[in-house]
Amino acid sequence: MVVRISLILGVAVLLSIGLVSGISYFEIARTTKENSTIRIDRAAKTAAAVIRYGTDRAIDPTSDENGKPQVLTLTALYNGPADLRPNALFDELVLAIGKSNQGAANIFSYSEKTGLFDRIATTFRKPDGSMPPPFAIKPGHPAYSNLVNGVPFIGNVPVQGRLRLAYLMPIVDGDRALKGAAAVDVGWADDLTVAQNRLSARLFTAAALVLFAVMLVGGILLRHQMMPLRRLAAAAHRLASGEPQASFPCADRPDEIGDLAHGLARVTELQERLHKLAYVDPVTTGGNRTKYFADLADALERAAVDDKKTALIQLDFIGFAKINDTFGQKAGNRVLMQTYTRLRRLLGESANISRISADDFCILLPLDESGELSADYAANIIDVLSAPFQLDEGEIRVDPLIGIALLPQDAHDAETAHRVAGIALRAAKDAAHQQHMFFSAPLNDRVQSEMLLETRLRTALATGQLELHYQPQVNPANGDLIGLEALIRWPDGQGNWIPPCDFISLAEKTGLIIDLGHYVLDEACRQAAHWLTTGFEFGHVSVNVSPIEFQQPNFASNVRKVLERYQLPSHTLCLEVTENVFVDTSERLVLDLLFELQSMGVLLSLDDFGSGYSSLSYLHKLPFQELKIDRAFLQDADLYPQKKQLYQAIVGLGKSLGLRVVAEGAETEGEYLLTVGLECDSLQGYFCARPLPAKDIPDCCLSIGEALNSDRLQSIRKRA
Ligand code: C2E
Ligand code: MG
Ligand code: MG
Repeated sequence: MVVRISLILGVAVLLSIGLVSGISYFEIARTTKENSTIRIDRAAKTAAAVIRYGTDRAIDPTSDENGKPQVLTLTALYNGPADLRPNALFDELVLAIGKSNQGAANIFSYSEKTGLFDRIATTFRKPDGSMPPPFAIKPGHPAYSNLVNGVPFIGNVPVQGRLRLAYLMPIVDGDRALKGAAAVDVGWADDLTVAQNRLSARLFTAAALVLFAVMLVGGILLRHQMMPLRRLAAAAHRLASGEPQASFPCADRPDEIGDLAHGLARVTELQERLHKLAYVDPVTTGGNRTKYFADLADALERAAVDDKKTALIQLDFIGFAKINDTFGQKAGNRVLMQTYTRLRRLLGESANISRISADDFCILLPLDESGELSADYAANIIDVLSAPFQLDEGEIRVDPLIGIALLPQDAHDAETAHRVAGIALRAAKDAAHQQHMFFSAPLNDRVQSEMLLETRLRTALATGQLELHYQPQVNPANGDLIGLEALIRWPDGQGNWIPPCDFISLAEKTGLIIDLGHYVLDEACRQAAHWLTTGFEFGHVSVNVSPIEFQQPNFASNVRKVLERYQLPSHTLCLEVTENVFVDTSERLVLDLLFELQSMGVLLSLDDFGSGYSSLSYLHKLPFQELKIDRAFLQDADLYPQKKQLYQAIVGLGKSLGLRVVAEGAETEGEYLLTVGLECDSLQGYFCARPLPAKDIPDCCLSIGEALNSDRLQSIRKRA
């Protein structure tokens, strides 16, 4: 920069010096020329006068209107022929001319034969009076062509290797034939040229000196002036390479450089704001997803380069969505903020804590040499987060789950590390009594086989390999058919069925349950409508609904559409949900949906009652018509009095709430008789029938009726 500006300055100075000195040089040259012309003019006129009067018109000059002699005409000479030969008169004449114009004069005779002008008289006599060496004007001499054409010449002519400013006139005879030439001069012409050249040399030296001085001083000044700019540029470079800049030099200057420093300071602020937007989670003030992946990449690089070990902990809460649904997003955000604060307090500043989505936190915790994270430490995290959160709305509890991967032991790249920690977290979700889980190879195998199963299930669903079987629900007292439960069946291609428990939870995890649910509802309704047209009275068809389906905002409208599609009376459809619908969804939303379905006339059944998240407090508020007691309560209840009493109590509870009580899973006659004795409204179990393809159902139902009304069973029932 400095060099370039110095160069530009130099060129500018050079141009101006060149211009000024050029003008002066040419002015001097012009004046010199004018001066010379005046002098030679005067010398020529004087010479003409001297010749005219000195020779008494024997040599008569002819002049132009300005009096400048053009040609000398030779008529006759005293004492001699009218031609040009060495002659005393000529010697006198040249001396007289030389005196009058303080220059020199020469006379030449022209020889037509040689074409040369030879000197015959000169003022340049040697001190001893003798003539200097002969001198001839030959072709190539500046005046030669003028003279042979009878025209005078003014200019510099070479004499003894130097130039003289001379005026040469042709001499002709009376017949205008060329006889010779007369030359007068005013001195050495190159005196002027030398003076001119000296001037130009001095001008050049002066210009070079000025130029050098300007470039030197200019360069130093510029360098000095550029110093703040250079410091600012260095600060800008540091800023660009991500080094935080607390302040910028020269910010206090009141000029453009100060403005530039302020501009850079604003860029820093902007950079910080952008950094925040890009890396900070606004809810918790911890890292966000981008920051997490950047930290993860750093941690893996440190692991590879410095052998530093890190634990990657993924955290999720069960039922977090419920907080948002029930208390609003602000309350949910406060829980997230407190989670972050608790984690920070427990794990210290060295941990990188980021929230990557809703309630999913990812933590990178530096480990010691061993590269291990103790189970106690993991349990500590769980404990800290299990403590109730204090909100304005009251005390809230959520169940934390964590999955842990150890780096670099479990993964060497960010994608794998994130995936394997996720596998550990999912395993913790699946495990019944384990809130934290470390990643391990068997877990990985399990996930891989699940992935395989998922692909197969997707294909099965897409290619219509799935089908529905139906299991009758009958009145245990008389065998009347009350309903049919639709149960999904997946043939394995080798004549066996893959049981729903092997793929329903997977379908729920992967979201496939939505498509699967659509298929089941549609197919069950289609079949029911078909049975109605054939006159087979089946009561109702029950369809199992997963909590995931229940969370779909368009669930109710989809049910309505399917009923309309098959023109199926709504009371012939029963939807079975388990208590798990309340786990991850707010009670309010579940209730709204249940009431909407009830208003449509669809029957609602609470399935597997007592097996999971049971809260008796809400049972009376819910619009269920049916309570299906989980099979576990009936199993062997006829054999153990305490079990029997428990079962009896549950049946009593259902009946007291006005619900139709369904006994699930009666396998033995004893269990069957128990349901009769406890006056269960409905029975579904292998004792009556296993789930069967639709085509076998009508016959099967007939034979159940016959079996239950057989004399033997009737008499046993009477006795009981
Ligand atoms: P669930 O809704 O409680 O269905 C009753 C399950 O108990 C059925 O098992 C049935 O075959 C079985 N069962 C009935 N009587 C007896 C018995 O006497 N002894 C024994 N040991 N079992 C009996 P399945 O078909 O294997 O279905 C298991 C679970 O899978 C179902 O439990 C339900 O939660 C789920 N499921 C089945 N089909 C669907 C479906 O289409 N959609 C959804 N979301 N879940 C389904
Ligand atoms: Mg069911
Ligand atoms: Mg059940």
